[in-house]
Amino acid sequence: MTSQEIKSLTNQYVMNTYGRFPVAIDRGEGARLYDPEGREYIDFTSGIGVSALGYGCEPWLEAVNAQGKKVVHTSNLFYTETPARLAETLCKRTGESCVFFANGGGEANEGMIKLARKYSFDKYGQGRSTIITLQNSFHGRTITTLKATGQDVFHNFFFPFTEGFRYAEANSLDALKAQAGADVCAVMLELVQGEGGVLPLDKDYVKAVEALCAEKDWLLLVDEVQTGVGRTGSLFAFQQYDILPDVCSFAKGIAGGLPMSGIMANEKCRGVLTPGTHATTFGANPVCAAAGLVVQEILSDAFLESVKEKGQYLRDGIEALNLPCFGKTRGLGLMIGIEVREGWTNKEIANRLIEAGLLVLTAGPGIRLLPPLVITRDEMDKGLEIMKKTLA
Ligand SMILES: *Cc1c(COP(=O)(O)O)cnc(C)c1O
Repeated sequence: MTSQEIKSLTNQYVMNTYGRFPVAIDRGEGARLYDPEGREYIDFTSGIGVSALGYGCEPWLEAVNAQGKKVVHTSNLFYTETPARLAETLCKRTGESCVFFANGGGEANEGMIKLARKYSFDKYGQGRSTIITLQNSFHGRTITTLKATGQDVFHNFFFPFTEGFRYAEANSLDALKAQAGADVCAVMLELVQGEGGVLPLDKDYVKAVEALCAEKDWLLLVDEVQTGVGRTGSLFAFQQYDILPDVCSFAKGIAGGLPMSGIMANEKCRGVLTPGTHATTFGANPVCAAAGLVVQEILSDAFLESVKEKGQYLRDGIEALNLPCFGKTRGLGLMIGIEVREGWTNKEIANRLIEAGLLVLTAGPGIRLLPPLVITRDEMDKGLEIMKKTLA
């Protein structure tokens, strides 16, 4: 099919819930994507942080194929090898104790919220169920995770929302303390707020939140759906913040392109969710887990170091272009935000770059870049060249 045919068919039969860019993708290689007519795009998005290994990664394809030939799905009524091995790897590399696998980020966060409330219920009984989240956060699109999201624009249309969330300004311990109360059971945060605009939290603040949670027996819930799996230059961002969350969610990049998510809990929380209290039919899919194991193999410590270097290279490269529409860059590893100067909108900039052959994302009022972690120097240079040509 041609690009035009794909667009028409989509517009006719797929529910119109996405503001799509006018590009159809047919195939990819490395950090490059091609439309059906063969036009090349440099990909600074990796499908919103999902395709961590880029496109056409041979070991990944082989593992998916091999597991697919053995068995694709069995349900969690039986044991399978690959999810058990992936859970082991995640725990050994992070210091967490056990994993529950799900399918998407919002769903993982639902599990994290359920775990926090049950932890508190088991220990203190009813009435201690409020979770404090941060302003500008993003936690998902379910009725509960919309409400957990600290942005008013998401609290619309779908009433009634789940009760039990309060919001505090990021990076202010006083603001967090002002939301305290006998009804609180947990604090939930992203270490680098993604959709909110690529806003990294201060390390001192995060350490202080961890201490406050320990003092009050609140669970510290970290949403690493976007920051996790190497994106920030460590396997999980919490490792750079020098904390161990009670529960941490992950999704996007975990299986390098297949739908998988989950939560990891520390020793204190390992027994909270018991048989019958939490489940999902598709969770712990053996093919997704086999893909996840390849991602873990490739994300060695040396590779994670290279993610930091690439992030710095890209940020330096962007700032050196001195483009009239761009201010400062910020972020962690290959999770990069670019400030858009007054007089420009991120949407028009994204549209122009995409039209010129460079795929980028927006977040908050800025531009956001989440390139495949395997992006090469040459691909980054091509992307920078397109920025220069298009926006100078
Ligand atoms: C993308 C994202 C989610 C939602 O994940 P889905 O897979 O779309 O449900 C939740 N939290 C954060 C931080 C995210 O970036």
